Amino acid sequence: MAFFRRRPLGRPLRRLFPPPPVPPKLLQANRLLASGDYPAAAEALEQLAQGAERRGLPQAAPLYLQAGHARILAGDTPTGMGSLRRGLALFVYTGRLQRAHRAGERIVAELRARGLTAEAEEMATYLWSLLPAGSPAAGPEPSRRTRLPTHCPACGAPLRPDETDWLDEVTAECPYCGSPVRGTE
Ligand SMILES: [Zn+2]
Repeated sequence: MAFFRRRPLGRPLRRLFPPPPVPPKLLQANRLLASGDYPAAAEALEQLAQGAERRGLPQAAPLYLQAGHARILAGDTPTGMGSLRRGLALFVYTGRLQRAHRAGERIVAELRARGLTAEAEEMATYLWSLLPAGSPAAGPEPSRRTRLPTHCPACGAPLRPDETDWLDEVTAECPYCGSPVRGTE
């Protein structure tokens, strides 16, 4: 009887396929964000997030978070808060609890640092209402020797190593465009 190893499904398999083409609108949104045109970046990111949500793509959650970030930088805090809540909720609804936890805690800290104290409290309350009772704290990401570039070389999005899926020890996957991004040791 032949023995065969079960191939783990999911992440390793995805590496066999070429990365998806980067949508021109995503490139444009990241350029607008980098150049400080926050209202236009927010609008483009909101449209991308809504499109990704309609198609059930995992990029929807991080795109909403990025759209909310851009809206707040553009001075429209209420709209930004709406996108931030949507992004966190989508992480939870798609079973990515750790990601929701980690991103949520970062967002609360950022709101506080911006002096948006009431919004920070509101977001913290919302985050706890989303997470199932007794869900473990986010905890620190295991430390890695690999350093990611600050921005995705394919789409230009800013990357956060602790909010990125790692395909292996040195390769992460851009949460916005799905391209593999190699880090350096
Ligand atoms: Zn990318």
